[in-house]
Amino acid sequence: MNATKTWFVQLLQERGVALSPLQLQQFATYYELLVSWNEKMNLTGITEREAVYEKHFYDSVTLSFFMDMDKVKSLADIGSGAGFPSLPLKICFPHLKVTIVDSLNKRIQFLQHVVEALGLKDVSCVHGRAEDIGRLDAHRDAYDVVTARAVARLSGLNELSLPFAKKGGTFASMKGADPAEETAEAKRSLIELKAKLVQTHHLKLPFEQSDRHIIMMEKLGATPAKYPRKAGLPLKQPII
Ligand code: SAM
Repeated sequence: MNATKTWFVQLLQERGVALSPLQLQQFATYYELLVSWNEKMNLTGITEREAVYEKHFYDSVTLSFFMDMDKVKSLADIGSGAGFPSLPLKICFPHLKVTIVDSLNKRIQFLQHVVEALGLKDVSCVHGRAEDIGRLDAHRDAYDVVTARAVARLSGLNELSLPFAKKGGTFASMKGADPAEETAEAKRSLIELKAKLVQTHHLKLPFEQSDRHIIMMEKLGATPAKYPRKAGLPLKQPII
């Protein structure tokens, strides 16, 4: 096993995430595809192997440090880009039924290719804006967990993401620097979208030591009929 794989396996194992040779191979293939497709389209600014494993793969899986993934059945990832955090989570927790939503079709095509190459089952890659997909019966008030990493400021992001969470479900917003200010700014959007803030978890990446925050919100009831508003509005005129 090379050095990257060794620390990756060990650090995840310490957190109760045991990876089989197949899962490690899936991460290795994902890395190769990410780097090769990145030459043709803009997927990530990070391409060095160690950095991808730390800042994309490990960072994505940190959600499982704060949530019992064995109890989660369905997960929707809003603005998944090159598949973060949902695909690393799916590799580690193969029982998850995952829906990925992204408005850029090229990225959805990349993700579809990764899903097939890795042999992942129960992953649906949906091309569209969260504002539109969140209005469809199949996706509205439907998921145990909704994730979004590095997509937008929380006040606008809540309107894109919370409509996907079912009553009692969780929206986990994965952020970098301290989100205290944007969390305060998002108070009204939580009330409007029938949710409450549960807790903000802090961690540091193992080598780079940069800060990460995961804001956990709970959905308290069905999404009001007027949300999400017309595509574009939630980020342009956030509920504040
Ligand atoms: N979550 C990924 C990550 O952490 O690397 C990607 C983050 S990237 C900065 C934001 C992604 O959100 C882009 O892929 C973009 O196409 C997508 N996006 C932005 N607005 C969206 C919307 N309204 N609905 C769906 N996807 C959206």
